[in-house]
Amino acid sequence: MLVACIEVRDGLAVVEASTPGSVPLPCPDCRIPSVRAHSRYERHLADAPCGGRGVVIELSVRRLFCDNDGCPRVTFAEQIDGLTCRYGRRTPVLQRMLGALGVVLAARAVARLGPYCWASRSAG
Ligand SMILES: [Zn+2]
Repeated sequence: MLVACIEVRDGLAVVEASTPGSVPLPCPDCRIPSVRAHSRYERHLADAPCGGRGVVIELSVRRLFCDNDGCPRVTFAEQIDGLTCRYGRRTPVLQRMLGALGVVLAARAVARLGPYCWASRSAG
């Protein structure tokens, strides 16, 4: 991944990056590598906060042709291990943080409801 710029915009740390154009990537269906580019597009990924600021990664990725005539897939989008997933708008790091936060918050809510739940159980 090539980082072109890091700047603060509207209170967010924005990282502008792109993938190199010459690295072959395997088709997700037939696993045959391809470097023939169809197009590029920009993804906007929310990442874990840094220094108290939200982080957004503006990442230019490739859409590649699959040149295998026996493969049903015509094109496929580039994914970056550890950073992107299909249709994902958050990095895996941020997704794990939010998941853990959800568990903690849910546990607190359940702990607050606990006495009521136990009271209703013992009453019934
Ligand atoms: Zn293929």
